[in-house]
Amino acid sequence: MHNELSIMEVARLCNIHTKDTAKAELRCRCPFCDRGRGKLTASINRDKGLFYCFRCGEGLNAVTLYSKVFGVGVGCRGVA
Ligand SMILES: [Zn+2]
Repeated sequence: MHNELSIMEVARLCNIHTKDTAKAELRCRCPFCDRGRGKLTASINRDKGLFYCFRCGEGLNAVTLYSKVFGVGVGCRGVA
């Protein structure tokens, strides 16, 4: 690991809330297909550093998640 953002850090930056449990895999909402309904259709695996949505099938790592969320400007209010 170098200076890469962790998937958890990216999720926080992208306003994707996860339940902080001891599990490696955390359910969360999807910033791409969620439209404010807040359904936990996606999961983040922090051991593997991967995001996957069961509804729209989006599968991303920390870097691609970050660039996709910030690139399209959906589901993220940024950091003040
Ligand atoms: Zn989705």
